[in-house]
Amino acid sequence: MKSHRILISGAGIAGLALARCLQQLGIEHVIIEKNNQSNPSSSGIALPFNALQALRKMGLAEKILESAHQVNEIIYAKKNGRIISRASLLEAPLNQDKFVAMRRSKLHQILLDGIESHIHFGTTIQSAHSNDEGVDITCSNATLSGQYDAVVSAEGIHSTLRDQCFPNENSLLDHNISNWRFVIESPNHGLQPTYMLAQTELFLTYPIDTNSLYCYAHVYDDTEKFKNGSPQAHLRNLFGDFGGKVSSILDRLGDQPVICSRLRSVRNPCYAKGRIVFVGDAGSACSPLLQQGAASAFEDALCFAEQCHKHDMDTAILGYQKIRAPRVEWVVKTSDDPIKKMKMMANPVGASIRNMMIRRKGPLNVQGWKQLAID
Ligand SMILES: Cc1cc2nc3c(=O)[nH]c(=O)nc-3n(C[C@H](O)[C@H](O)[C@H](O)COP(=O)(O)OP(=O)(O)OC[C@H]3O[C@@H](n4cnc5c(N)ncnc54)[C@H](O)[C@@H]3O)c2cc1C
Repeated sequence: MKSHRILISGAGIAGLALARCLQQLGIEHVIIEKNNQSNPSSSGIALPFNALQALRKMGLAEKILESAHQVNEIIYAKKNGRIISRASLLEAPLNQDKFVAMRRSKLHQILLDGIESHIHFGTTIQSAHSNDEGVDITCSNATLSGQYDAVVSAEGIHSTLRDQCFPNENSLLDHNISNWRFVIESPNHGLQPTYMLAQTELFLTYPIDTNSLYCYAHVYDDTEKFKNGSPQAHLRNLFGDFGGKVSSILDRLGDQPVICSRLRSVRNPCYAKGRIVFVGDAGSACSPLLQQGAASAFEDALCFAEQCHKHDMDTAILGYQKIRAPRVEWVVKTSDDPIKKMKMMANPVGASIRNMMIRRKGPLNVQGWKQLAID
C-alpha cells in the first residue's frame, strides 16, 4: 500500500464519497467545504442501478435502501397522459441492482455519517501550485496550508480549481433549458416515474416514498425569459394543462419552495492537471437525462481511491484518467446529445418524430441504461 496525503475540496456527493473510499483504504486525507454546514438542496435524486452497485462497494447500499424508494418501471407519456412507451426496470440487463429515488438530504446524511466531524467547514483554497512532489496549498484555514501529494476538486460544476487549471476555456456549456425542481406530498400516489412530454416541455414525477413525489420540469428557453418572476407561476402557465397528476400537483404547489436552474455541462470533461484531480461534476457535469451524476461521482471516487491504494501518485492519476475517460465521455455524450437537439422539438414535426422513436425504441434513458449495463 502506498502512503499519500490528499486534500479534497468540496463536501458534496463526490467529495464525501471520495473521503469515505479513502478512509476505507486507510489513505490520509483532509476534506474542506466552503459552506459553514452541509446544505443539500431540498429536492430529490434518482439513483439508477449502477449508483447502487457503487454504493454497495462503499458499504452503504443497505442504508440507502432503508431510506429510499424502489421504482420498477419508467413511463413516457404525452401531456394528456396517453402512454408513448413504458419499460420495466426489473428485466435483464437492468436487473443487476435496484433503481431507487430519495430526498437529497437523506443521501447526504448517509454519506456524512461518521465523517462529518472530520470536515473543515467554511474553508476554501486560496492558492494552489502544482510541483513535482505534489501541490502547495494556501488555505483560508492556515493550519491546513502546506504540501499535499494531490488535491482533488470535488467542487461541483462551478469549480474554481477547474477554472484556475484551464483558464482559457469557456468551461461551461449552457443548453438553453430552464428547469424547476421541488418535492411535494402526495398521499398514496401509487405512481412509477412518469415523464410527460409536450414539445420542449417535460414534466417528470418521480416517487421518493409512498406519500411524496420529486417533480422536475423543464422547457427550452434560449432567451432566459423564465429566469425572473415567480417559478410557481411559470410552472402553472407552462404545465397547468398537463394531464395525469400534474394539474393537481400544481394546484397544491402554492408558494412552496421551487429550485430553478439552467441545464449546463462542463464543455470538455477533465480528470487531472498535474497533481490536481477532478471528481464528480467538477470534471464532468452533464445533463441529468441518464441520472448519472451521483453514480459517476461514486465511480470516480472508487476508481481514484483504488488507484491511490495501488500506485504512486503520478501512476494513480494516469490510471484514474485512463480508466474513467471512456465511460465518463460516453455518459456525457449520451446525456447531452438529445438535450442539444431540444430546439428541434419546438417544431411539432420534430416532437412527433421524437415520440415515434420513443415508441419504437423505448424511453430514452432506459436505452442509455441498457448500454451502461452491458458495458
Ligand atoms: C436539474 C438536475 C437534476 C439532477 N438529477 C439527478 C438525479 O436524479 N440523479 C443523479 O444522480 N444526479 C442528478 N443530477 C446531477 C447531480 O446533482 C450532480 O451530479 C451531483 O450533485 C454532483 O455532485 P458533486 O459533489 O460533484 O457536486 P455538488 O453536489 O455541486 O457539490 C460540490 C460541493 O463543493 C462545495 N464547493 C464548491 N466550491 C468550493 C470551493 N471553492 N471550496 C470548497 N468547497 C466548494 C459546494 O459547496 C458543495 O458542497 C441532477 C442535476 C441537475 C442540475
